[in-house]
Amino acid sequence: MTNKTESNIEILEPSMLFHSLNIIEPILKAIQEEGYTTPTPIQTQAIPIVLQGTDLLGCAQTGTGKTAAFAIPILQLLSANRTYHKKKVRSLIVTPTRELAIQIGESFNAYGRHTGLTCTVIFGGVHQNPQTSALRRGVDIVVATPGRLLDLMNQGHLTLRDVEHFVLDEADRMLDMGFIHDVKKLLTVLPKKRQSLFFSATLPPEIIKLASTILHDPAKVSVTPVSSTVDIIKQSIYFVDKRNKNALLVEVLKDINIKTALVFTRTKYGADKVVKILLRHNVKAEAIHGNKSQNARQRALANFKAQTTRVLVATDIAARGIDVDDLEYVINYEISNIAEIYVHRIGRTGRAGAKGTALSFCDAEEKAYLRDVEKLIAKKISVVENHPFPLIIHNPVKAPKQQHGKKIPVTQDRNR
Ligand code: AMP
Repeated sequence: MTNKTESNIEILEPSMLFHSLNIIEPILKAIQEEGYTTPTPIQTQAIPIVLQGTDLLGCAQTGTGKTAAFAIPILQLLSANRTYHKKKVRSLIVTPTRELAIQIGESFNAYGRHTGLTCTVIFGGVHQNPQTSALRRGVDIVVATPGRLLDLMNQGHLTLRDVEHFVLDEADRMLDMGFIHDVKKLLTVLPKKRQSLFFSATLPPEIIKLASTILHDPAKVSVTPVSSTVDIIKQSIYFVDKRNKNALLVEVLKDINIKTALVFTRTKYGADKVVKILLRHNVKAEAIHGNKSQNARQRALANFKAQTTRVLVATDIAARGIDVDDLEYVINYEISNIAEIYVHRIGRTGRAGAKGTALSFCDAEEKAYLRDVEKLIAKKISVVENHPFPLIIHNPVKAPKQQHGKKIPVTQDRNR
């Protein structure tokens, strides 16, 4: 793993190394092995708070180093207060997607590799047997998506009565994905006396309300709001006709500097189609979306991380929280009609201070979405003028909508 700290977003004082956060030797050693030398801002703020045993409300998105911000102090607290009889689930991390669960599990295993603590990951869409076997052997830390967790609990495979540290990760996504009832059910079985950590990329009123039911007198930490994270990412727009997007993608990928790229499409069908076209042009590509089996998704992600697959084509839900070290290129094959999605997509790159480039293909119909994006990020994205597939049809004529039996005139977009 490369040492990414040299290009870290914020240069911290030399005194602000992991050593100064009073982290115990076995964890420090593992962090060094990961190649980290300087804590990220969320880690500098959160680690001392969590080590004190205080509840925490963290406003931070994936890519800021927030996983280590909770995993490191939790591992340290568990190590300090060891139970030597049969292992109990003492820490529970709940996160919305399997990809995130797996990545968080990998982080606990990496940072905790010299502590002797054990962690298992629980998520749906796969056979439960390996998960229940791991639970039977006994684990200290469980990272889980809510549905399967409740399922295994109801079947009697695990109990949460010994949980000392509870982390709710990506709380806003959790609500978006309809997990609120599952979270509420979990709260009824967790011990009242526990430390709770709550992370969310955004803090709208319903999230604050949920946080207040989980946290007790929390300390608050906040890092880089969504719109400023994107400032470090080099962004450009290609105006292109819809029918030429495939040709443009193939053209763009002729650039050998693009070692790997994560391409976003709106639909699963679209993702498969793009993969087919890339394969036809000898670009090694795989798709990752909800119709693929869990194993296929994991395999595609592993191939992409190992750079044996050059292009991973993903839909938004499948890509949520995908964490690929040093991913430099994100390509928006389509512009989403939800501006925040653009920010989440390009946030897959430029992580923990690494370089990032986001290229977006915009056809005539998507110009309005682009304007929303630029409003959200409060800047104009630079336009690539010289490319072989410039936009020709600037004003697509849509079928007029019928309203009360009358035809309404088509409004044409003449901007840009
Ligand atoms: P996260 O926000 O937890 O998804 O982390 C984003 C990426 O940053 C992951 O690839 C981590 O391995 C990496 N990372 C976390 N903390 C540090 C650090 N202190 N120095 C360098 N990289 C880090």
